[in-house]
Amino acid sequence: MDEFRADLHCHSDFSDGTDSPLRLLRIAADKKLQGLSITDHDTLAAYTPELFLAAQKLSISLLVGVEISSGFEGVSVHILGYGSSLLDPKFLRVLKEVQKKRAERNLEILRRLKSKGKEVLEEELMQLCSSFQVIGRPHIAQVMVLKGYVSSTKEAFDLYLKEGGQCFFPGEKFSSLEVIEAIHTFGGKAILAHPHFFKGGDFLEKLLALPFDGYECYYAKMDKQREAPWIKKAREKDLLATGGSDYHGNFKPYIELGASWVGKETFEKLCP
Ligand code: AMP
Ligand code: FE
Ligand code: FE
Ligand code: ZN
Repeated sequence: MDEFRADLHCHSDFSDGTDSPLRLLRIAADKKLQGLSITDHDTLAAYTPELFLAAQKLSISLLVGVEISSGFEGVSVHILGYGSSLLDPKFLRVLKEVQKKRAERNLEILRRLKSKGKEVLEEELMQLCSSFQVIGRPHIAQVMVLKGYVSSTKEAFDLYLKEGGQCFFPGEKFSSLEVIEAIHTFGGKAILAHPHFFKGGDFLEKLLALPFDGYECYYAKMDKQREAPWIKKAREKDLLATGGSDYHGNFKPYIELGASWVGKETFEKLCP
């Protein structure tokens, strides 16, 4: 019997991944993962009855998950929500609100790009994204490459789209506390995604003072040495140490599904 491994962070083509949810399950099975959570940005659309059925056939435990954009002290913070109770239509309505704010922000980014002579039309974005439900900066970057404005999506981010970039616009977001509280109201677990992306010190301590259930200690290709202090801190704070690959398919071809994972004990704490 293979060791139980569950990748708790990846994206399908409902947001900014390039594999369908079903395809993600098949890749997970090929990689001998026994647990998976598909955590698209701001949507739970991947979780159809067909997906649960397919997971069952492949003997993969599927944990309902979503990665929600929030704001804390003007910084964008991604919060993972886990648990089947999040499929409640009232929580889906909360996600619709988040998606609305995202769509407004996208339009402002397009306006800013136009002002720099890098016009991307909404129709061009929609054409590329006909299979995507939630559109974000990676899709805008892709159109910029297709239009020849930049040579790679990396260049699009570095020059224009990254936080602080020429055409970046944060948009209005729910606060991190509001998102955590919404997840808790609907019986889910709230996990801070990739905390090592932030500069340390004061900001992170203040952020971690919010009522998170845990944070990601295992992430993408992070090595054991880098993981260790995060795991230690989680233990001290009595927080769950979770993780996953943050696989995005061809949008981030250097990261494989299953690059990071958690064991059975942690997995079961997220789906009691
Ligand atoms: P958005 O949700 O629209 O704000 O876009 C965030 C997504 O863009 C992240 O989840 C990553 O997939 C991607 N991303 C963020 N920063 C970069 C970057 N510097 N280079 C490439 N992709 C990035
Ligand atoms: Fe993403
Ligand atoms: Fe993220
Ligand atoms: Zn992610």
